[in-house]
Amino acid sequence: KDYSSDQEVRWCPGCGDYVILKTIQGFLPELGLRRENIVFISGIGCSSRFPYYLDTYGMHSIHGRAPAIATGLATTRGDLSVWVVTGDGDALSIGGNHLIHAMRRNVNLKILLFNNRIYGLTKGQFSPTSEAGKVTKSSPDGSVGAPFNPVALALGADATFVARAIDSDRAGLTEVLRAAAAHRGTALVEIYQNCPIFNDGAFEVLKNPAESARRLVRLRDGATYNIDGRAYVHDVRSASAESSWALSRLDDGSMERVPVGIFRCVERPTFDDQVRENRARAEKGDDAAFLSLLAGPDPWTVA
Ligand code: SF4
Repeated sequence: KDYSSDQEVRWCPGCGDYVILKTIQGFLPELGLRRENIVFISGIGCSSRFPYYLDTYGMHSIHGRAPAIATGLATTRGDLSVWVVTGDGDALSIGGNHLIHAMRRNVNLKILLFNNRIYGLTKGQFSPTSEAGKVTKSSPDGSVGAPFNPVALALGADATFVARAIDSDRAGLTEVLRAAAAHRGTALVEIYQNCPIFNDGAFEVLKNPAESARRLVRLRDGATYNIDGRAYVHDVRSASAESSWALSRLDDGSMERVPVGIFRCVERPTFDDQVRENRARAEKGDDAAFLSLLAGPDPWTVA
């Protein structure tokens, strides 16, 4: 069983979403869970059609709000494996606030951020990850402003698991999904995804063997990487995230050097576990725990 649903898949021919879907359908049996214990929640955008195509539970929800809905579900149903599927516009524009707070709270969610560097569903406007100067229908003279680097953003929000993969690299994506699924807390996985209709070839230099050998930096824990004349030993479990941060900054949007793999994987108390502990204490008459629940408990303020 590969967890494919009976729904007709409706993306444009050649869309990178197809190969990501195939990889995830093939990976899900590894979780060893019943289909009713897996939930995929999406926002709005092309990638957000994902839940229809998986034979799990799911919700095609509100623009940018999938992390908020998933936070509620993960907090109330600790027995579920909760995944968020979102895109660069959905997650980093309208949904930016929800995304950063899910990561800093360390909710037990796996967030798959499909980054095609364009708005596809609304037909080709520049997005928060489009390169500066991008010429689109909404920026005929070139977009103004620097793009987000989603990996650096996640590290800045103190996400406990941060990784990047490429749509067509099935082995690499599966390896990252496996590590994300095993992680307890928020796992942010950026997936470079080709949109052949509105931003074709955005990641082609990372797929072309002649170019990728020079540009692609495959991350290995414990390996040494030279960045700006300094040698960094990559330590995914470092609390300071020094090597993770330096590696994240290698990607300046030009695709000259692009790290893929796991940047960070550290342990920190999860939001949902702490809310459940508070609730248990409140049910036993602990007024302080009850007030913390009403105020929206925070990992750093719960004793
Ligand atoms: Fe895929 Fe782009 Fe078509 Fe959306 S518009 S389905 S991202 S190819």
